[in-house]
Amino acid sequence: MEEAAFFLKEGREKSLLRRHPWVFSGAIQRTTGKIVSGGEVAIRSAGGEFLARAAASPSSRIAARVWTFDESEKIDLAFFHARFEKAFRLRRAVFGGSLPDAWRLINAESDALPGLIVDLYRNYAVCQISSAGAERCRELIAEAVLHYADGVYERSDVDSRLKEGLEPRTGPLAGAELPEMIEFEENGILFRADPRNGHKTGFYLDQRMSRKAVMEASSGAEEVLNCFCYTGGFGLAAAKGGAGHVLNVDSSAPALALAKQNADRNGFSPDRFETLEADVFQFLRKCRDSRRSFDLIVLDPPKFAETAAQTEKAARAYKDINLLAMKLLRPGGKLFTFSCSGAMNEELFGKVVDSAACDAKADFRITGFLSQGPDHPVSAAFPEGRYLKGIAGIRLG
Ligand code: SAH
Repeated sequence: MEEAAFFLKEGREKSLLRRHPWVFSGAIQRTTGKIVSGGEVAIRSAGGEFLARAAASPSSRIAARVWTFDESEKIDLAFFHARFEKAFRLRRAVFGGSLPDAWRLINAESDALPGLIVDLYRNYAVCQISSAGAERCRELIAEAVLHYADGVYERSDVDSRLKEGLEPRTGPLAGAELPEMIEFEENGILFRADPRNGHKTGFYLDQRMSRKAVMEASSGAEEVLNCFCYTGGFGLAAAKGGAGHVLNVDSSAPALALAKQNADRNGFSPDRFETLEADVFQFLRKCRDSRRSFDLIVLDPPKFAETAAQTEKAARAYKDINLLAMKLLRPGGKLFTFSCSGAMNEELFGKVVDSAACDAKADFRITGFLSQGPDHPVSAAFPEGRYLKGIAGIRLG
């Protein structure tokens, strides 16, 4: 039987030689054999040289995602075990031997497993399968995950699945059933997350280091404003760090209800940890008009730009909230501002924050650049993995 293969156009092998894991449909000159969605396909140069073994996604602009650059490697259970073990060793190395309660075991392309995310919450795993290749290997993946968890729940309800020709899919995947709420500790704070209905796999694990930074910056802060608070992550960190009062704003009632529960479990009373259901854009304007001010503000909005084409519009939205927040900062007040839009790079985000400071007439000093935690590594061959960026700074005057 003829090998399923994509032969690339002349010169289009360069990114693969640099070990970038994507093959765009426009790079393909011709196809041989039978191409199946999610099935294996050899990637070959125009001259027929083997470049990689990949999973085909015939309906996507990313026509194939690389499993391995090693021609002798088979995509079987041993392959997944080995990739998981490598990812696990990396986490053990970066966490200095003692793993946290909740952490990311597999960070997709950056752990050489395109389209697969596995988050661990103590002994439970929540995974997300977003590529046709990972979907086809779901049983092998489930088995590999069970080495690290007693039960696995699947949250493959991301839009990117549609581009791969896959329907959303959620439900128990393997092993023991997950409880309704999963519990874990982070930086000494107790959290509850809802693996079935929460965002992502239930919690924004990627902000671990930044929550710690906010905790450390909050001692002595009388009034903290936590915008886009979700289930309270940054607000709880601020309260734990010694903030006098934390106001947590989000437009989602269920997220706020869980934030309140989390505060309660940690012994933060409602007069110290307040929640408000509101649109942040409107709320910041209200604060500006009523001359309300804060000692520390967190801005951690959702992704404003889904694609590169939306970057300009997104930049305006980021500018808007950052400008308003700058105006609300008291002298000596601190800002922690983030963007998780991959399409918005670090340089552009930096410019947005700079121009917000300028327009607010704020003497703003940047004191730190923040990023996703070490359990969300970025492969040097996959710059697209660098999606989360944050800037910390102080308004001096
Ligand atoms: N900071 C959080 C994660 C934020 S996710 C953490 O560390 O856990 C983004 C949040 O913004 C979501 O909870 C969503 O409900 C909320 N959101 C989106 N648009 C909003 C708006 N216009 N006003 C208020 N909240 C909004």
